[in-house]
Amino acid sequence: MGEKLTPLSDIGEFGLIDKIKAMFPAKHPSTKMGIGDDAAVLKPGKGRTLVTTDLLLEGVHFDLSYTPLHHLGYKAVAVNVSDIAAMNGTPRQITLGLGISSKFTLEAMERFLEGVKAACDNYGIDLIGGDITSSRKGFFISITALGEGLVGDIVYRNGAKVNDIICVTGDLGGAFAGLNVLEREKQVFIQNPQMQPKLDKYQYIVQRQLKPEARMDIIHELREKKIVPTAMIDVSDGLASELLHIANDSKVSIRVFEENLPIDKITYDTAVEFNLDPVTFVMNGGEDYELLFTISQEDFETLKNHPDIHFIGFVQNKKEKNTLVTKGGNEVSIQAQGWRHLQ
Ligand code: ADP
Ligand code: MG
Repeated sequence: MGEKLTPLSDIGEFGLIDKIKAMFPAKHPSTKMGIGDDAAVLKPGKGRTLVTTDLLLEGVHFDLSYTPLHHLGYKAVAVNVSDIAAMNGTPRQITLGLGISSKFTLEAMERFLEGVKAACDNYGIDLIGGDITSSRKGFFISITALGEGLVGDIVYRNGAKVNDIICVTGDLGGAFAGLNVLEREKQVFIQNPQMQPKLDKYQYIVQRQLKPEARMDIIHELREKKIVPTAMIDVSDGLASELLHIANDSKVSIRVFEENLPIDKITYDTAVEFNLDPVTFVMNGGEDYELLFTISQEDFETLKNHPDIHFIGFVQNKKEKNTLVTKGGNEVSIQAQGWRHLQ
């Protein structure tokens, strides 16, 4: 009683574009022409235009054996929105480039597009164009996001000042913990296909890996509280790497305290289960898509009771080393060590 599957070749490139066009009617007044002509036409807003691109390749950035396609569609949009958020901007439009291998069916494509649509609706974004090509092997996704920011609101990586307070949202290391679990279950499954993955107790971290959220909620809250961070970046490669970006670009150094690093209990327990150091998950695990930012001391009062913002350290003079102070009081120098390079 198998579901009847439709080869994508049945509808062809133009059929798929028509389908996408029907699924994604433009909502923003700034989108004058979306899908359907040789180029989209936008009306510029008052401030500056932010542009960012992310490429996701099957086998490099995602594994379709454990990644549901609608989550993949959602994540592909969310990671771009996260970059706009990290500039303290508002996302407006995306374009979607797709390389599709012949194994993809129309039904699979629909699940992927449903995820893209869920993210576009959630973040209030128009899909305004893209391109489709066949791929010899593997699925690839290239999304470009356009956003808007007022001149005085845009936050760069280079604005951190000595004595600023270092803040991070949410909790860290969860996406990497989830990836470890998914990879382990995949190996178990390859060795014995009768074994069904046991993921219940890992639900939170698996979701952190498969369906991250861009922290636009925090951006809106900061705006309401009239707080403009002095520097900001999103945590895509791991906290250590992002801290060093802010330190180097701002010509300062940073000091963070292990006891203040936000880690979820399931992340912690999973690291221990894998005989790995939970602090390494937090410092070097990637893909949490939380926001790391610095604020001047005077803004601390306004944010200090925020349940989802954690104050992990402070900015110091460039002469000092970039330092992690452990719970035992030891000082460890922070190294750039994107977790990808460890694999
Ligand atoms: P051209 O041949 O001029 O590049 P296409 O036939 O590739 O035009 O595209 C026609 C329209 O469909 C354009 O508006 C394009 O942006 C849009 N489009 C193509 N692929 C996608 C896609 N993957 N997602 C959204 N829009 C798309
Ligand atoms: Mg084209």
